[in-house]
Amino acid sequence: MEYSHRYHAYPTQEIAAELEHHIDIHRQAYNYTLYEYENVNADNIGSAYKHHYRLPDWKDEFFVFSEVNSKALQRTVTRFYQNLDGLSEQKQNGRTVGKLNWKSPSEFQSMTYSQSGFELKNTSGRRATLWLSKIGDIQIRYHRDIPDEAAIKEVTVKKETTGEWFVCFGLEIDEANLPEKSPVETLNTTNSVGIDLGILNYIHTSDGKTVDWLDLEDEYDRLSREQRKLSRKEKGSNNYEKQRQKVAKVKRHIRRKVLDYQHKLTTWLVREYDAVFVEDLDVKGMLQSDGNARNKQVAAWRQFITLLEYKGELYGTHVVQVEAAGTTKECAKCGVETAKPVWVREHSCPGCGFECDRDANAAMNVLQRGFSELGLGWPESTPVETALPTDTTRVSAKRVVETGSPTLNEATPVAE
Ligand SMILES: [Zn+2]
Repeated sequence: MEYSHRYHAYPTQEIAAELEHHIDIHRQAYNYTLYEYENVNADNIGSAYKHHYRLPDWKDEFFVFSEVNSKALQRTVTRFYQNLDGLSEQKQNGRTVGKLNWKSPSEFQSMTYSQSGFELKNTSGRRATLWLSKIGDIQIRYHRDIPDEAAIKEVTVKKETTGEWFVCFGLEIDEANLPEKSPVETLNTTNSVGIDLGILNYIHTSDGKTVDWLDLEDEYDRLSREQRKLSRKEKGSNNYEKQRQKVAKVKRHIRRKVLDYQHKLTTWLVREYDAVFVEDLDVKGMLQSDGNARNKQVAAWRQFITLLEYKGELYGTHVVQVEAAGTTKECAKCGVETAKPVWVREHSCPGCGFECDRDANAAMNVLQRGFSELGLGWPESTPVETALPTDTTRVSAKRVVETGSPTLNEATPVAE
């Protein structure tokens, strides 16, 4: 399984200048690859693998290419061919696309060390050190551990438009080292959970928790304020550039806050349960997409599910997406469908008389669909009414942010 971890980096001024110098050489290498691809007729051009064999000649001809790590240089050539593949894929999907262009400095802000030439050191505290060959040590804010089982395949160093530096580790975990998931036959209504992803920005679990989504209203207000200011500046001026960085910073702040929140929620879910069932968002997204805010929420849920799936692998928890259509309408007890407008918060079945909260009913349906997806029936020993929690605990986003989980933890009580 492959995934990545990203960290804020704090190079000294001297190292930052060195990084910029290296990235610019990589940019030239990228452009030179493009040049050769389009203009040079030779056998060893046409794939990344073949093109790598041209690098010794490059170094003879242009000393500058010897200044950077040679594996990283290969990786930049590969990056060109990856972009080329991406382009032809888009073409096949019927999109009109241009061709690859030369990269200007503002368009080329990163480089990747692959396989060797880097080392992650001093990982015991909140700070760690990344060593890069031909460059030196860079401090990073090590807010999330890289699991021992994970191998670091590559590391990308990037300068954001805000001027901040980030490093991103490409990680790989051998399937054999992943924890085993519990046997499907052992799953039941107590160790599994169905989740209704609310269109009103919260999740509702089949065992009776609703967890609020982050309130980002202040952040979005600030974003539109900064964007309005940007629109009044003269394009290309110093002030415009400064303001553009401010906008980028607010956006990044929002993204990071959301991601951090999703990390906490998903980690809690896979630790707490042996199986987590969620709705298949592609369907849900189509059914309910209208307006920008909604689309944003769908995008956020999609990222949430991606995280959930990878953590499921990491912690040995089944994560299964189920058919989303009708989870709200269908009665969790008898299956009769009743149309419900969004404002009707109660489920009251005309068929069997079953009554419960609208979202609790939806979450129950997700749980049932998850069981059948795994080839299990609904456990006969647990009628829906019994599985349904007697009351609902509402958890604020603040509590999740502060304690890392929506579960009441007596050791660290949180005042609300
Ligand atoms: Zn019913």
